[in-house]
Amino acid sequence: MSRIAKALLVVFLAVASQNSAAQAPQALPLPDERYKVDLLLVVAHPDDEGAATPYLARALDEHKRVAVVFGTRGSSGANEAGAEQAAALGAVREIEARNALTTLGINNVWFLGGKDTASQNVLLSLANWDHGESLEQLVRLVRLTRPEVILTFLPGTFIGEDHGDHQASGLLATEAFDLAGDPASFPEQVAGPTKRLEPFLENLRPWQPKKIYYFPDADRDEKMATSDSFWTETLHFVLGKSLVGGSVTGDVFEGITPGAIPFVRPEISPEPARPELSVDLGGPYSFYAEFRRAHGLTNLPHPEPPEIALQGHTTLVIPLWVRNRTGKTQEISLAASLPAGWTTQSGTGKFTVAAKQVAAARIEVLLPAVPENETKKPEPQEVTVHADSNGQSIGEIKLRVEVRKRALPQ
Ligand SMILES: [Zn+2]
Repeated sequence: MSRIAKALLVVFLAVASQNSAAQAPQALPLPDERYKVDLLLVVAHPDDEGAATPYLARALDEHKRVAVVFGTRGSSGANEAGAEQAAALGAVREIEARNALTTLGINNVWFLGGKDTASQNVLLSLANWDHGESLEQLVRLVRLTRPEVILTFLPGTFIGEDHGDHQASGLLATEAFDLAGDPASFPEQVAGPTKRLEPFLENLRPWQPKKIYYFPDADRDEKMATSDSFWTETLHFVLGKSLVGGSVTGDVFEGITPGAIPFVRPEISPEPARPELSVDLGGPYSFYAEFRRAHGLTNLPHPEPPEIALQGHTTLVIPLWVRNRTGKTQEISLAASLPAGWTTQSGTGKFTVAAKQVAAARIEVLLPAVPENETKKPEPQEVTVHADSNGQSIGEIKLRVEVRKRALPQ
């Protein structure tokens, strides 16, 4: 190398090292800390937050950051303050809910945009809420708020108020708990931007919440948050799952330390073994069994036999799955044992189900009326469906049904 070339190289190296020393490293953008929360409450309707408000107040006293997600705007409620109804009432209730939560100190409040669905059937609510869209938005909000704990309604069908929308909020929250940490779920949410003003990819990070707790709405008498007893009554939460240990009865934040934890795929328990020809309860009942299995929630409380409370002089629908794994068409017969005064309307008798098929069947039962002046507390009654094939029993399905003066439609 010539002396000139050596000199040039030295000058070039000097300039290069000077340049890198002069250029300070640029911090890459990080998630917005203003939206990080400790606790995310996921409920169905504006005012449902009242069911957990005493606990939220305590959490806020303990300087926990709290945000709330509502499934719907509550557009089907009654209006005692003005004339507005339907979507206009929903707009009013959204503002009411935001104002109420602001007085508690909770400013981060979102609405999924579901529609009120007056039934006890979670599947109707999910259909009416655009399940996929609602879940996508809730996963986004979990990734945005990065909650340590999710608190939500208990998914399940119990005797009580047990609104399908309440169940839907708990179900979506459970799905979001299990999906938000998975980089393969809604990957467009966690993809980095392709340009400065990225219009499609969201640059969120996957986030695995650490615990999920449930609270039931069933058998919760209509209590006003203004009554003294409401505030002093113990709130019961059910630990759905904890990925950080802690005890079932310990503090909600027991075992939680700051920082992200790795994504945990739920442990799926095996499908129950069934005979070649079987009949079992369908609808939300069989769905919930699948749901508990899919989300590793086998310890979640659920009534056995399954139960429901319905209004007198309405129709009880018993949804059934008829499964034929044999290689030929099978004939089955369905019969129902009912309490006195209950009458089968349809769905009993003989049916066929083709080879290797699963078909939905349905028995409808007219329930007796409950007199307005009835003072006796209603007691659940047992209904049994008997399924036979070729003179042999292939299933006996039990359902406990309580007939009340008032109840949400099934
Ligand atoms: Zn509600």
